[in-house]
Amino acid sequence: MGRSKKPANKPQQQTITYALHDNCYINLTNKCTLRCTFCPKFNKQWDVKGYRLRLKNEPDINEVLEAVGDPLQYKEIVFCGLGEPTLRLDELIRIASALKSKGATIRLNTDGLANAVYKKDVTTMLSSCVDSLSVSLNAQNSDIYTEHCRPLINNAFNEVQNFILAAKNHIPDITVTAIDGLSGVDIQACENIATKLGVKFRRRVLDKVG
Ligand code: SF4
Repeated sequence: MGRSKKPANKPQQQTITYALHDNCYINLTNKCTLRCTFCPKFNKQWDVKGYRLRLKNEPDINEVLEAVGDPLQYKEIVFCGLGEPTLRLDELIRIASALKSKGATIRLNTDGLANAVYKKDVTTMLSSCVDSLSVSLNAQNSDIYTEHCRPLINNAFNEVQNFILAAKNHIPDITVTAIDGLSGVDIQACENIATKLGVKFRRRVLDKVG
């Protein structure tokens, strides 16, 4: 069955969803717990592969579901965008659950700080509606992490690792990522942390978005 390259419904006033690599990406929010130095939006760049991801208004649940359309036309539905999807946790869970009930495969790309933000283990809530997690570790130690990610909460580097350990109890497919090319980042050491945590690792390349 052929897959369309763009959501096949009415034109969006803003980019709520965008199609890449046979996946549908959901741009749920522009808010973040981090202020990464390498983030396109902090470098006044809001376009990803031709999609303008700056949101004037955060889309509601129905707007997102309408923008996705038939989820089965995509390999995966990915919560991503230029913001941290778990900062809209309730909407994220309700959208993911609705799409999952239609047979979608759901991935969440996250900074791994949701448990720290909400001060509880939210991975239990994600287990029924998220198939896989991609978690940005981005560094091999707290100093390098803080330098590049500029977290707004304390102890963030350890909190990300605690999130991964908690998520392992509920979500079987977890990948940790780090960006090759950031100063001081030791990719092999990042991969070693992923191995120690018992999850997969993926090296990303600096300035390659999407
Ligand atoms: S977590 Fe992602 S969207 Fe947020 S500041 Fe970092 S790179 Fe940008």
